[in-house]
Amino acid sequence: MSGQRIVCVGAGFSGAVIARKFAEAGYAVLVIDERSHIAGNCHTEVDAATNIMVHKYGPHIFHTDDKEVWDYVNGFTEFKPFVNRVKAVVGDSVYLLPINLHTINQLFGRQMSPAEAKAFVAEQSRQDIDDPQSFEDQALKFVGEKIYKTFFHGYTRKQWGVEPQALPASILKRLPVRFTYDDNYFNHMYQGIPARGYTHLVQHILDHPKIETRLETRFESLDEDARHVFYSGPIDRFFGYSLGRLAYRTLDFEEIRVEDDAGIGTAVLNYCDAEVPWTRITDHKYFAPWSLDETKGSLQFKEYSRACEAQDIPYYPIRLVSDKARLGEYAELAKGVSGTTFVGRLGTYRYLDMDVTIREALDTAQAALDALGRGEVPKPLFARIL
Ligand code: FAD
Ligand code: UDP
Repeated sequence: MSGQRIVCVGAGFSGAVIARKFAEAGYAVLVIDERSHIAGNCHTEVDAATNIMVHKYGPHIFHTDDKEVWDYVNGFTEFKPFVNRVKAVVGDSVYLLPINLHTINQLFGRQMSPAEAKAFVAEQSRQDIDDPQSFEDQALKFVGEKIYKTFFHGYTRKQWGVEPQALPASILKRLPVRFTYDDNYFNHMYQGIPARGYTHLVQHILDHPKIETRLETRFESLDEDARHVFYSGPIDRFFGYSLGRLAYRTLDFEEIRVEDDAGIGTAVLNYCDAEVPWTRITDHKYFAPWSLDETKGSLQFKEYSRACEAQDIPYYPIRLVSDKARLGEYAELAKGVSGTTFVGRLGTYRYLDMDVTIREALDTAQAALDALGRGEVPKPLFARIL
């Protein structure tokens, strides 16, 4: 093994998990992040005035069917059970999401059984759409016009800034539609939130004698002769945006502090009407129901989505056709960069849940360790990014 260190750019889940895997294999690792904290966009911190655990870059709920990943994170910190139950405000009414039997019965003023509701929605849906490519076609095929217009059209326009006809069907496929009264937002077997927050979890992943973590350090100004680099920053930034910028949505969070302990009464309220400028309000104390007795008042965030400019934090990759073409060109450039592997949500320009991020990080690190063991240079791109 040479004396040079492995460098992980980014101290989010991608960088931390890869660093840990290499450290455990005996390699010295340097993890850098330009921010003043670890955990990337999953960063949490306790608000001093209220004792509420705040998810600084938007609320994060861990949900997965991947038992190995679930066991992995539980090996570093205690998880508390949490079931995400989202409410949707439309006009003067409040509904339950995801679309379930309660939502359908409430919207149509009926008392349908599961079988009746299934047949009813099938009647409303567009059976002539065979292979839906766009968000809109996917919605019209599976839930029909009224449900689509009520819950998805306005919200999606606000969230993505384009007509749903221009968006890929995959965005909607993230959400289940149920003909029972189950209002669990996710279908996964395991769901929870770390009792002491995500930053505590990542801190434990990074806590290894072979790992040095250096904050407020940009890759562009790092002076280190690395054995191999795992880069979880934006792929277009790595190449100095030479082929143009990949489009993202960014978020603005308007903080609202209230003394009322009940706050909004739940963790997430979506606002589906196009006329309401925000997409949702989240009340962070409710993401830690086990500690409600220990907090004071409530701390809410109104979320607004807009186009990401150069100085903003990139949140959601948009991945329109034009972005995918540009991404393909960056992927070609990446293939020519020896000694660097592009990882994570920014390095591969994909929306990745935390469990998928960790799964890919574990697999990428293993494949790279195997390659180094054979005396080869690890691949620049591990995951399929297009
Ligand atoms: P990041 O967390 O973005 O980490 C990358 C790090 O690299 C950052 O800290 C950045 O500062 C650093 N960096 C970048 N470039 C450089 C550079 N040049 N030099 C130095 N440092 C650099 N997933 C779920 O499973 N459940 C959820 O409920 C959920 N909610 C979400 C809500 C929102 C609003 C968003 C946008 C995402 C959500 N996610 C959720 C996804 C989750 O945030 C990602 O899975 C996770 O952040 C990916 O980790 P990462 O390490 O790849 O990237
Ligand atoms: N969506 C919607 N109305 C809602 C909730 C979600 O139209 O009340 C759409 C929206 O386009 C969103 C997508 O469904 O991006 C996926 O929902 P999810 O909750 O996964 O949203 P995200 O994690 O993207 O914020």
